[in-house]
Amino acid sequence: MSGAVVVGLGIAGGVRIRDMLAPLAGSPAEKLQVRGFVSRRSVGTHQGVSQISMEKAVSREDIQAAFICTENVSHEDNIRAFLQAGKHVCVEYPMTMSYKTAVELWDLAQEKGVVLHEEHIELLTEDFKALKKEVEGKSLQEGSLHFTGGPLKPGFGFPAFSGISRLTWLVELFGELVVTAAALEDTVSNYSKMTAKLLTRDNRPLTWIEERGPGLPRGKKINFQFATCSLTQIPPSAGGTGGLFMQDMIHFSCKLLGQVGVEELQREKIRILHCLELAEKIQNICQK
Ligand code: NAD
Repeated sequence: MSGAVVVGLGIAGGVRIRDMLAPLAGSPAEKLQVRGFVSRRSVGTHQGVSQISMEKAVSREDIQAAFICTENVSHEDNIRAFLQAGKHVCVEYPMTMSYKTAVELWDLAQEKGVVLHEEHIELLTEDFKALKKEVEGKSLQEGSLHFTGGPLKPGFGFPAFSGISRLTWLVELFGELVVTAAALEDTVSNYSKMTAKLLTRDNRPLTWIEERGPGLPRGKKINFQFATCSLTQIPPSAGGTGGLFMQDMIHFSCKLLGQVGVEELQREKIRILHCLELAEKIQNICQK
């Protein structure tokens, strides 16, 4: 059994507690036991679980793992505190708001001999699995991914980081990318539109648009032109296979139990760091 604490009691934090209280039967997630949560607000108990202080969370010996579910800007400090205390960390994406810091934290995790896991539920969705299957074996000529959604609350950071799940889709579908141009339209009245121009290894252009504003429906539009056909809609998928956060928790638990191979761990780390590096480049170009 590994004792765990949840830091940040928002949507994601609440789901983490729920999932630990009712893990998928027979899955490695049953090996996690929630011992408390940390919140800046005075909450007392939540779903029958007690609030504890950050100091207790990092020092208690019956806590071996932390779920970092706060706003993006405070991920870094929280991850560092738990890694330094020798605890495993599962952080909701994006891990940090800078590539350099993510590299440092990964080095720290290695030095301490603990797991650092970044949740990527967008790769576990049926939509993504269907899209990946459809794209496999096709030769991309050019493409675009346009995300729209409502405004984000403060603390979620630059759109290239808060929207890293869209970038991760592109990297998982088409391999490592290079940023050639990026722009952020004036952010007025909670509206923002970031456009990033990317190139695949075969020099095929991809455009990623991240647009947020009041009243904008949450959704993704794709337009992928292949040598043989075009794809303008995410293919229909068969129903879900259970909760996405639960699937991620099982993956994290497998890592804690040493059930994930070195190659897979390395592949994941390379992808995560590559996406964070791209996000940072996009931010730098936009802010020049
Ligand atoms: P949210 O705003 O609902 O929750 C964030 C919570 O963290 C708030 O309750 C806030 O008070 C708390 N918090 C912030 N700083 C804190 C600190 N220093 N100590 C303790 N508590 C603190 O946001 P959310 O949707 O739950 O997102 C949280 C994280 O999960 C983000 O990194 C987000 O990118 C990621 N994520 C969320 C979803 C989702 O479906 N909601 C999906 C994937 C990833």
